[in-house]
Amino acid sequence: MSRYRPVKERLADFLPVEVRLPPEEFRPGMQRCQDCGIPFCHASGCTLANVIPEMYTHALAGRWGHALSILLSTNPFPEFTARICPALCEGSCVQGLHGDPTPCRELEKEIIERGFAQGLVRPNPPREWGPLRAAVIGSGPSGLAAAWRLNQAGIKVTVYERDQKPGGFLRYGIPDFKLEKEVVDRRLELLTAEGISFECGVDVGLEIAGRLLKRRFDLIVLATGARKKRNLAIPGRFLTGIHYAVDFLSAQNRLNAGEADTLPPGYSAKGKKVVVIGGGDTGSDCIGTSWRQGAQAVNQYEILPEPPRTRGANNPWPEWPRIRRDSSSHAEGGERRWNITTLEFLPDSTGNALGSLRCAEVEWQAGANGQFTPVVREGSEFIQPADLCLLAMGFTGVEECPVYTELGVKIAARGTLERDPSLRSGNRVFVAGDASQGPTLVVRAIADGLAVAEAALSEKNEPRVTAMTQRFGLPRRA
Ligand SMILES: Cc1cc2nc3c(=O)[nH]c(=O)nc-3n(C[C@H](O)[C@H](O)[C@H](O)COP(=O)(O)OP(=O)(O)OC[C@H]3O[C@@H](n4cnc5c(N)ncnc54)[C@H](O)[C@@H]3O)c2cc1C
Repeated sequence: MSRYRPVKERLADFLPVEVRLPPEEFRPGMQRCQDCGIPFCHASGCTLANVIPEMYTHALAGRWGHALSILLSTNPFPEFTARICPALCEGSCVQGLHGDPTPCRELEKEIIERGFAQGLVRPNPPREWGPLRAAVIGSGPSGLAAAWRLNQAGIKVTVYERDQKPGGFLRYGIPDFKLEKEVVDRRLELLTAEGISFECGVDVGLEIAGRLLKRRFDLIVLATGARKKRNLAIPGRFLTGIHYAVDFLSAQNRLNAGEADTLPPGYSAKGKKVVVIGGGDTGSDCIGTSWRQGAQAVNQYEILPEPPRTRGANNPWPEWPRIRRDSSSHAEGGERRWNITTLEFLPDSTGNALGSLRCAEVEWQAGANGQFTPVVREGSEFIQPADLCLLAMGFTGVEECPVYTELGVKIAARGTLERDPSLRSGNRVFVAGDASQGPTLVVRAIADGLAVAEAALSEKNEPRVTAMTQRFGLPRRA
């Protein structure tokens, strides 16, 4: 359903690639919503449980304000998910059984953008704040969601952020052509007007000790993300010209935002042959960014097999379809290959800089334990010329930070921070988002931030925030 600006036009800038569709264009799609007995979009697809059929009903009747209230009752930041969510709801839409799902993401965007344009999205602070204080460490989507929810319940919240500005990967990761930063700033202005304090440029653990947090705050939410980058430790890794994808992407975002005058040395793809290692979303963001910087050629290599074009028998509806996805960046050019491993980085004539990659095709073979491992296919080795290689192979868990130990939070075997079934990670300490779930999606980070705030509220016996209290304020304290 999405429509994009023409490739030639969009490669000349970092402005959003997606065009906002006029409602009459997606109206026929909306009309296909069946208001199913069990709306799987809401019940199992959307992590935030957006009440999609009711939103369609009101939007189709022109009651956009009602649709907005319903949307905001489950999702505090629909303008983010409306732009970058893979739309888990659409994956479980009943219409998707036979053809295209209904356009849930377009609807979400139309509702929230109309709401902003008509001045219906206004700061909504709590009527009063009680004596409790909360510190949220990290200002990505999970930290923002937790801060919003706690603030709505009348708890005074301070968000500490190590970066120059709040937003986490929303600001310093996801490219502007997918999520324009004015949208992040617009929400941050609302959160600030609602009473949340942001302290940026503060590295908690280094600049503020855990015991100080404990003394100053009644609740602590760690929303520090899963930011330990996965390395590719093969011969030649020391050569210049090999960078982590997220460093490359955030450098471009900082340049676009005017936070830097130039890209750091060696980070520009201009005139270069680029190889992106990793076939996921971050890899695809690197492709789009490389073309915009003026790359000569871009190749993307993924070690896993190519996903099927349609659902496999072991992946039935209404599960999320594990199929091949082609992003707007893929449509901009470049070669994409699966079942490729990189064996060695080879130097150029200087001996210091990257000149090429020694790669090979792999076959996935089942071992005695049933686990599949990649085995290099004999005779399949090839040399790929490259002068910039971007490692987009994901993250292995949280980064080291002394505050975790100081607060008694344990690191689980998979590299994330542990929490118990009631979502507690220590005395008055909670963990939200990627830091606990591992690298995932913005929609899941928001949902987790809300859930963790809810758990913190129940520990402190504070009133729960409901759709009613969001709209009409919390009951006054006795
Ligand atoms: C390049 C890229 C593209 C992506 N694209 C998409 C997409 O299109 N759609 C989608 O749904 N998801 C996408 N994701 C995933 C999504 O961005 C993450 O799942 C989400 O941002 C996680 O939110 P979070 O709040 O848990 O952590 P983060 O967004 O990682 O935020 C953590 C914050 O904590 C701060 N912090 C860490 N340690 C400290 C400390 N000691 N003191 C103070 N602050 C600290 C960090 O600076 C950061 O601001 C993408 C991720 C990347 C990297």
